[in-house]
Amino acid sequence: MFAEVILNNNAKALNKIFDYIVPDEQIEKAHIGARVFVPFGRSKTLEDGFIIGLKETSEFANKEIGKILDEDYINEKNIKLAKLMSRKYFCNISECIKLMLAPGTGSKELNNRVTDKTGNFVYLARDNEEIQDLIEEGKIKTDKHIRVLKFLMENDGIYAVELEALADVSHSVLKTLEKNGYIEIIPNVIRRNPFINKDIKRDEPKKLNDEQQICFDGIVKDIDENKFSCNLIYGVTGSGKTEIYLRLIDRVLERRKNAIVLVPEISLTPQMVDRFLARFGECIAVLHSKLSVGERYDEWQKILEGKAKIVIGARSAIFAPVKDLGIIIIDEEHDMSYKSDMTPRYNAKDLAKYIAKENNCPLVLGSATPDIVTFYNSEMGQINRYTLRNRANESTLPEVKLVDLRQELARGNRNMLSEELKLEMEENFKNKKQTILFLNRRGFSTFVMCRDCGYTAKCSRCNISLTYHKFENKLRCHYCGYEMPFIKTCPSCASNKIKYFGAGTQKLEDEVKLLFPDKSVIRMDIDTVTKKNSHEEILNKFKNENIDILIGTQMVVKGHHFPNVTLVGVIVADSSLNIDDYRAVERTFQTLVQVSGRAGREKDKGRVLIQTYNPDNYAIEFSKNQDYDLFYNAEIDLRKMLKYPPFCDIILIRFVRKRYKWN
Ligand code: ADP
Ligand code: ZN
Ligand code: ZN
Repeated sequence: MFAEVILNNNAKALNKIFDYIVPDEQIEKAHIGARVFVPFGRSKTLEDGFIIGLKETSEFANKEIGKILDEDYINEKNIKLAKLMSRKYFCNISECIKLMLAPGTGSKELNNRVTDKTGNFVYLARDNEEIQDLIEEGKIKTDKHIRVLKFLMENDGIYAVELEALADVSHSVLKTLEKNGYIEIIPNVIRRNPFINKDIKRDEPKKLNDEQQICFDGIVKDIDENKFSCNLIYGVTGSGKTEIYLRLIDRVLERRKNAIVLVPEISLTPQMVDRFLARFGECIAVLHSKLSVGERYDEWQKILEGKAKIVIGARSAIFAPVKDLGIIIIDEEHDMSYKSDMTPRYNAKDLAKYIAKENNCPLVLGSATPDIVTFYNSEMGQINRYTLRNRANESTLPEVKLVDLRQELARGNRNMLSEELKLEMEENFKNKKQTILFLNRRGFSTFVMCRDCGYTAKCSRCNISLTYHKFENKLRCHYCGYEMPFIKTCPSCASNKIKYFGAGTQKLEDEVKLLFPDKSVIRMDIDTVTKKNSHEEILNKFKNENIDILIGTQMVVKGHHFPNVTLVGVIVADSSLNIDDYRAVERTFQTLVQVSGRAGREKDKGRVLIQTYNPDNYAIEFSKNQDYDLFYNAEIDLRKMLKYPPFCDIILIRFVRKRYKWN
């Protein structure tokens, strides 16, 4: 017998199937998905890999498999999925297989697993890419150092003892790397283990309202009939989507099946997990990147052994080894984090659809602002759509006002806060309520805008904002390459107040402190959120210590529930309108609706002030009444006219070459 083997190696040249002879005495053990060690090239040590096929003849095989491991590592279905992904996403099969293995098993030291999980925690102190460069340039030479760093690049955040065992190094190696500034060793980090010290109050299912009931009945039918279907629950925040998820999962468990729930990484908070705990108790596994490799391994085992019936996790939880899958739920389905921005660049939403089909179970997508493509597919009848128009508890949607920053400038106010926002904040302080100031920093300093009329330089061919390249003093379209010199006067109104945009949360904080010296302020952005000082802790502090003002970027937008926040100020809505992406307008609309959703989530009515230079832009105009339908109609027409998805597919092709060496 012959085996088709894939090597566990990321090199592109090795993304091939190699044939090996299966020695007679190992035929019993040879099956698809088994992990093997094989001789390869001139290397003296055996390489590890996986059997992905078996056959009776082979033209090429001339070497024997060295060893076949006993344990089952990956099932045949997953091998099929990995092959498919490798074709669809242009990556190595082995890279896809790694996503489906128990965390930590990708490394060579398989049997040295550590169960004692106390003490120091290790993180990379630099970006993956920086470390990669340092290794490639030969600046980090020692094998042991490279092993540790490579391991951390794949599994950031791990207990020191685990790392020492998995990478087979001593503690002194870690100390050296820390001294050189490549890693951080942090003692006693408080983990987000959902089950420790939790006194879980059970809650009872709620009686569904009519809209919820229609949705529930529609999807539950497919659960009962073991039928694949793709469903969209389109409902404003607070309309009771999560309650429907819980009820559907309840039915899935009754039928002795299991569930996967995907949520955006950043909204995977303890509060969110608590709701599942309260309803279902401890049959839950949580998977996300802030857990150590060992903790993720434990969660993985709980799933494999069938102790966990519901898996809640970020994007990669779609690969959890769940048997008898009865439903897949993707909350906030429009969120960008479902698409991986690292190799393999998979889209968890597409894979979820494939996996649901394979398992004959429904897929449920939920959002208040669905992805334009998802909504289009629901219009075309490819996705069943259920609409929830009303909030499920007695709270109402906030009142949203637009502030025209051009007029503010005309009045001579050059501050980041308009007069109107200032007054609203004072009023809010008087009522002892909390305020969130939101500054969308994506896209800042990269585009050019006229402060008088709001004009932004765009590519006439692609309708995408031109990106400012400071070094060459040029504006360039990132889609088609069109470029033009930097403009000093506005082509639309001839003003010379045209410049690239630059304002940050730090500047905003300074301004706010100056204006309101006796108010407490807390800031949350990439600078203040570190691995030690998590985004969770900042938000808890804001909530528990009743801090007056929270200043933040995207991170404040998702999933949190602050009962005492009744005012949200958006500093400049325009910044994200101008990122160089055809989805810029869609993202802006989604973000504005979501930020608005942070205000007045309980009985007190919320107010939202959106400051903008483009009050007439349709994303901003329609976000005022949170009117997704109107927004969708405008956006889909434009997409059709400009031939953007869903009316085409866009493929990004990147050319890379090795650094040229002069001899
Ligand atoms: P979403 O997921 O759409 O944001 P949730 O499911 O979180 O909405 O519901 C918002 C609030 O309304 C929650 O506090 C929830 O407990 C409550 N709720 C949901 N459905 C009902 C219902 N049928 N009856 C009473 N309260 C409900
Ligand atoms: Zn262009
Ligand atoms: Zn102008």
